[in-house]
Amino acid sequence: MSLNVADIRRQFPILEQQVYKKDLVYFDNAATTQKPQVVIDVLDEYYKKYNANIHRGVHFLSSHCTDATETARKTVQDFINAKHAHEIVFTRGTTESVNLVAQSFASEFINEGDEIVVTRMEHHSNIVPWQLVCEKYGAKLKVVDIYPDGTINMDSFKAALNAKVKIVAFTHVSNTLGTINDVQAMTRLAHNQDIPVLIDGAQAVQHTHVDVQEIDADFYVFSGHKIYAPTGIGVLYGKEEWLEKLPPWQGGGEMIDQVSFEKTTFNELPFKFEAGTPNYIGAIAMGEALSYVSNNGIDAIKKHEDDLLNYATERITTVDGVRIIGEAAQKSSVLSFVIDGIHPYDIGVLLDKTGIAVRTGNHCTQPLHDWYEIPGTVRASFAMYNTKAEIDYFMDKMQQVLEMLK
Ligand code: PMP
Repeated sequence: MSLNVADIRRQFPILEQQVYKKDLVYFDNAATTQKPQVVIDVLDEYYKKYNANIHRGVHFLSSHCTDATETARKTVQDFINAKHAHEIVFTRGTTESVNLVAQSFASEFINEGDEIVVTRMEHHSNIVPWQLVCEKYGAKLKVVDIYPDGTINMDSFKAALNAKVKIVAFTHVSNTLGTINDVQAMTRLAHNQDIPVLIDGAQAVQHTHVDVQEIDADFYVFSGHKIYAPTGIGVLYGKEEWLEKLPPWQGGGEMIDQVSFEKTTFNELPFKFEAGTPNYIGAIAMGEALSYVSNNGIDAIKKHEDDLLNYATERITTVDGVRIIGEAAQKSSVLSFVIDGIHPYDIGVLLDKTGIAVRTGNHCTQPLHDWYEIPGTVRASFAMYNTKAEIDYFMDKMQQVLEMLK
C-alpha cells in the first residue's frame, strides 16, 4: 500500500494556508505535527455534544466520555502492542511521562551511589528529570557516547552497564540526528544485567512500527502532538509488573481508592498514576489520530518519509559548505545541517519569509550540540503530508538564501 499524499494533504486544513502570501511548507514536524480534520472534528464534537467529567458520573454524558476514553486507551494499547490496556497511562506528554517515572522510580529504587545511564543524544526532557533525581538521592548520571555519524557507541553503552546502574533511559529516534537506535538490542543488553529501560519514543511512534513487547521495553513514552493528536496529551506505557511496583507520583482525585485522614489507599492501574481530571477529550482525540495513522498504514508512512529524507539528503549534499549532522544508515524523517560561515538562525529567518517553516537552534539537545561544537543546526523534519515538490521549493529557496548570506 502506498500513500495517497494529495488526498492526505486535503485532510489537513492548515496546509491550505499561506504565510506571507506564500504556500506554507511545513518542515517543523519534529517539533509538532499538524492535525487532520478527523482529529479536529473529535475535539469539536466532544466539546459541543458530549463533554462531562469522566469516571465519577452516573449520567449519560459522563458515561459516554468515560467509555470513549477507555476505548482510546485500548487504541493506544493496540497501536504499540502493549499486553494490557491498564499498562497505558495518560499523561500530558513525553516530558511528563519521563518525570513521572524518574520521580516515582527514584523514590523507591535509587539510593546514594547508584547510577542512572542516558546517552549523549538525549532530548533535555530525558536528561533533566534524571539529573533532578540524581541530585536529590545522591546518584550519578552516566552518559553513553556516540560516534560522529550520530550512532550510539555500543562499546560505551556496554561499558556503562554494571551492578550500580538502576535504570537506563535512551531515545528510540533522535530529534536532532534522526538516528534510529537499535532499542531492542540495547534493551537486551540492559536486561542481561537486570536493569530496566525507559525508551523515549517521542520521535518514533509517528514514523515507524513500535511493538513494546517485541522491544521488551519496561517503560515507553511519547507525546500525542507529534503524532497528529492535540497538545497536552501523551502516553506512559509501563509493564504491569513495574507500574505495580512504583508508588503514585501525584496525589489527588481519581488516583485513590479510599481516603481518610489516617490513611489513603490507591486506585488500581492505570488510575493510580492519573491524579485529577485528565485531558480525556485529548485522549479521545489521540485515539482518533492513532487510528488515522493506522488506517494510512505506518509502513506506507515510513516508506514515504524515507523517500523524502533520502531525496532531501541527496539534494542538500550538493550545496557548497554544507555539513549534515547525523549520518546514520538508519534514520527517520530528520535532516539537520550546518553551512560553513552562516548562522543557522539567519537561514531560518530568511526561509520563513518564503513560507518555509524549519527549526533552528539546538532543538533541546544542547549537550549534543556542544559535543559537535556547533551553536545549532537548521532542521527540516518531514511528516506523511510532505512532498518532493516541497523539497524542490525548499532547495530553490535555500540557494537564494545562501547567495544573500554569503
Ligand atoms: N524527546 C524527544 C526525542 C523529543 O523530540 C521531544 C519533543 N521535542 C521530547 C522528548 C519532549 O516532548 P514534549 O515536549 O512533547 O513533552
